[in-house]
Amino acid sequence: MKEVRTRIAPSPTGDPHVGTIYIALFNLAFAKKFNGTFILRIEDTDQTRSHPTFEKNIFEALKWANTSWSEGPDIGGQYGPYRQSERLPIYKKHIAELVEKGKAYRCFATKEELNEMRQVAKKMGTPSGYDRRYRNLSEAEIKKRLDEKQSYVVRLKVPLTGECIFEDAIKGRVVTPLADIDDQILLKSDGFPTYHFANVVDDHLMKITHVIRGDEWVSSTPKHILLYEAFGWEQPTFMHMPLLLGKDGRKLSKRKNPTSTFFFKETGYLPEALVNFLTLMGYSTTDEKEIYTFEEFVKDFDPNRIGKSGAFFDIQKLDWLNQQYIINTLSEKDLLNKLKAWQFNDEFFQKILPLCHTRMKTLTEFMELVDFMFINHLNYTDELFSPKKTTKEEAIFILYTFMMLLEKQDLLKSENIEKASHELADLFKINHKKIVMPLLFAAIQGKKFGPPLFKSVEILKKDRVRARLLTAIEFLGSISNKKIALLKEELQKNDLSGFVKQKN
Ligand code: GLU
Repeated sequence: MKEVRTRIAPSPTGDPHVGTIYIALFNLAFAKKFNGTFILRIEDTDQTRSHPTFEKNIFEALKWANTSWSEGPDIGGQYGPYRQSERLPIYKKHIAELVEKGKAYRCFATKEELNEMRQVAKKMGTPSGYDRRYRNLSEAEIKKRLDEKQSYVVRLKVPLTGECIFEDAIKGRVVTPLADIDDQILLKSDGFPTYHFANVVDDHLMKITHVIRGDEWVSSTPKHILLYEAFGWEQPTFMHMPLLLGKDGRKLSKRKNPTSTFFFKETGYLPEALVNFLTLMGYSTTDEKEIYTFEEFVKDFDPNRIGKSGAFFDIQKLDWLNQQYIINTLSEKDLLNKLKAWQFNDEFFQKILPLCHTRMKTLTEFMELVDFMFINHLNYTDELFSPKKTTKEEAIFILYTFMMLLEKQDLLKSENIEKASHELADLFKINHKKIVMPLLFAAIQGKKFGPPLFKSVEILKKDRVRARLLTAIEFLGSISNKKIALLKEELQKNDLSGFVKQKN
């Protein structure tokens, strides 16, 4: 039998999502179960969004969750390089092969042309914007345009009729009419491959036998299959895992829930408990046993027991599990060491002491000042969130927008956080001192005033701050997706004054 090879292929475009750990664990379990190999590949073809810091964070998050790989950008391997930005010549060669075979073609459409096509498609109600106008250019026409150095992308020549059918090992048969698939771009005008193209070429060259990934990729799979067919390559087995869902029944999203692995690390979850929790998601164990080590999970692992529908990310369940781990796997001495490693250490105290030094009459007041650095469940009250008679809805808009402004900053620094708070006041045309500051103190510290706010936000870091803003919003009554879309739209126009009546 062929050696089983699985992989995780994250894109370094944001905080290390807990979903990446979830998918990694199932890939690792699958490889281990069948004596195979699990590899890590970094998919950084989106040059505008990829960043080395995000890549470093992916390594760190996977390692924290005790997930190890046998081949990857950091350790190399037989089929490297494992970072897509280092594989450009490989993609070039394969693109040339497809163009040569007549399976792909150069498309010279300009931005204006594409816009126009999109407008037309919108009017006609057709799903795809691209009308395939460059699909059948003559050799002479292509040569002329190349000589003129016209910019182009390469697209796949998708058959116009028929169906793409594949057997997903979890979901069963998936049938997609080819008429629904556009002539997808394989190579962008900047010379970088698209996700679809690089992903397929690499899975093939890295000899991946089982592609185990989140359900959100199932609609991309027909495009991938068409590529395997165009090359004449054997297809891997596809397995699309149930999505992690938030309370609203939608895919877990950072706009609604904590999703960064670092949030769980920083708020004191044990990696073993999180791993246990994630393997429980979308999987039914044979007995009712819910607490097990990863090794035990692997021993009993049966891919047929992976669920088909989404798995609710139930934070209360995670809390319960974490408590079981604290009780059953940590001695008091271990617990003390965990606490020290977490925040009861010189490094953390050195960060918070400057915030308190001049503000405490006695030593006990230290804890009163910085309690919010150590606890998660703040004491929110309606009164805290209604400075100058701000309504709950107004407070929600202001806090949500603050979150969006912070999202634009990769690393939160107090100067920039302060700027964002002033921008917030300007956007809503509200008083900074009397409305913005009290609301932010309430959400972040759970009190009317406390140690310097912007420094506190910097120390708490993005994931915990985002979670706090979301919890405050939830406390005030939550925000609908429609309202979020509206806020975003108006934010583009730099004027949110219509969302708040109370100005001063
Ligand atoms: N780069 C994709 C991601 O960010 C990989 C999806 C796949 O596994 O094919 O998740």
